[in-house]
Amino acid sequence: MEYFQAEKIVEECEEAAQKEFKKIQAVALKNQAKVLRAFRENRIAAMHFQGSTGYGYDDIGRDTLNKLFANVFGSEAAIVSPLIANGTHAISLVLYGLLKRGDGMLSISGKAYDTLDEVICGKDNGSLVDIGVNYKQIELTDDGDFRWEEIRTALLREKPKVVYVQRSKGYLWRDAFSVERIGEAAKFVKEIYPDVLVVVDNCYGEFVQEREPTEVGADVCVGSLIKNPGGGIAPTGGYICGTQACIDSIAKRLTAPSLGLEVGSYLPGYLPFYEGLFLAPSTVKNALLGSVLAGYVFEKIGFETMPKTGSMPYDIIKSIRFRTPEQLISFCQKIQRVSPVDSYVVPEAWDMPGYPHPVIMAAGTFVQGASLELSADGTVREPYVAYLQGGLTYEHCKLALTEILCDLA
Ligand SMILES: *Cc1c(COP(=O)(O)O)cnc(C)c1O
Repeated sequence: MEYFQAEKIVEECEEAAQKEFKKIQAVALKNQAKVLRAFRENRIAAMHFQGSTGYGYDDIGRDTLNKLFANVFGSEAAIVSPLIANGTHAISLVLYGLLKRGDGMLSISGKAYDTLDEVICGKDNGSLVDIGVNYKQIELTDDGDFRWEEIRTALLREKPKVVYVQRSKGYLWRDAFSVERIGEAAKFVKEIYPDVLVVVDNCYGEFVQEREPTEVGADVCVGSLIKNPGGGIAPTGGYICGTQACIDSIAKRLTAPSLGLEVGSYLPGYLPFYEGLFLAPSTVKNALLGSVLAGYVFEKIGFETMPKTGSMPYDIIKSIRFRTPEQLISFCQKIQRVSPVDSYVVPEAWDMPGYPHPVIMAAGTFVQGASLELSADGTVREPYVAYLQGGLTYEHCKLALTEILCDLA
């Protein structure tokens, strides 16, 4: 298809998406207000952006960043740190911080994200199961909802210490959970056992709705700073928000039982983490607008997408189902080609650390692997689904979709 034809189709899709766009913009306004309020209440100033060295005692930038995130996520406390390598590391810290030998963990959203397989169930590698945690999972229904009765039965049969929920879809063909649904799950669990801890993998969900899981009953929510809450600016890191008691336990894992949050320095300073959080509601909005537009464009040329057009997204990912592995690979290669960085390289499927199947990833990003930047990935196995996410600017998403449409149709 010629470029001008593709442009016209994308414009039409944009028109069709206006209802969703308006709602996404309204959520962004609420979240920007929430973040701004937290900055003002915490009296953020230039001194907070300074780095520290060595032990990092009294590192005011680090300590205040923790408070800022806690305010924004409506939790009692938080750990936000460039010393957390990524989302998987952050989730591991939470689980190892809360679970001891003999404790139970019940995942109610089926299998966790692929990179957690080895963390939870690995053999002879110090995984949770390996150190004596009793792990169980309950699959989701075919349409991706909780199996309430099975959850009740499992809880009554054996009381776990942690109930685990993954908000986003991971590498599954399902929709993400809304914050409201996660709130219902937390309430359901707490009605049976008020003291069971509800932990939410919040990756890709931050600022998509007006509230976060910790505002609707979750004890802990956790995610990556090179996704939504880093605003496309944070160069690395993870965050954990939760009750004071949970954060205290997890902090002992982050450093050492005698140290907790008293230590930890970072010479380059915290400017990109503060600025990233401030930009996050708007950057997430751009990514969401791009994601919704992608849904309209791909459905128009006959591909199935999830969530379907017309429904509101609960994370920033748009799943697109291709018919052949070649289509999936070619789509990811095209996303790479329309990226601002490394546009000239051609991604191939490979055995990435932590992933059980060959994965292809397009990430022509400023921050390596940052998926709030326009990116796509897919596991090369049936049903050949590409997961498209991010876009620092809506305009980039629109240009990328126009170019891809030229090639595909
Ligand atoms: C990305 C992601 C993770 C892991 O994060 P990494 O930063 O890639 O280690 C965990 N859970 C979900 C749902 C994710 O999307």
